[in-house]
Amino acid sequence: MKVEEKLYTLRYKRDDVSHLEIKDQNKCKECELKYGVPQPCITVCPANVYSWVEGKIVISYENCVECGACKIACPFNNIIWKYPRYGLGIALRYG
Ligand code: SF4
Ligand code: SF4
Repeated sequence: MKVEEKLYTLRYKRDDVSHLEIKDQNKCKECELKYGVPQPCITVCPANVYSWVEGKIVISYENCVECGACKIACPFNNIIWKYPRYGLGIALRYG
């Protein structure tokens, strides 16, 4: 099954508050200089949550499938990663 097909089996109950945050955008600029674009968080995320826009990381947290890969991949430990609040976030569509 392709990643896109797997993503379709999830449904997302949107939280108004992002459960993901960048600690320091200056670190992301350092990261860009060291690793280029796309940076590790962009490369590993299966749901296209991160993008690099005008020298900053922008987070589309509502697409997150809560896999945790970005937190592990960030070489600067620069992501504040929490689960969405209780009852919000992803669930299996047929689960
Ligand atoms: Fe920023 Fe970490 Fe992403 Fe690099 S991998 S751009 S430091 S969040
Ligand atoms: Fe992307 Fe997974 Fe990180 Fe969510 S937890 S932003 S899906 S890499």
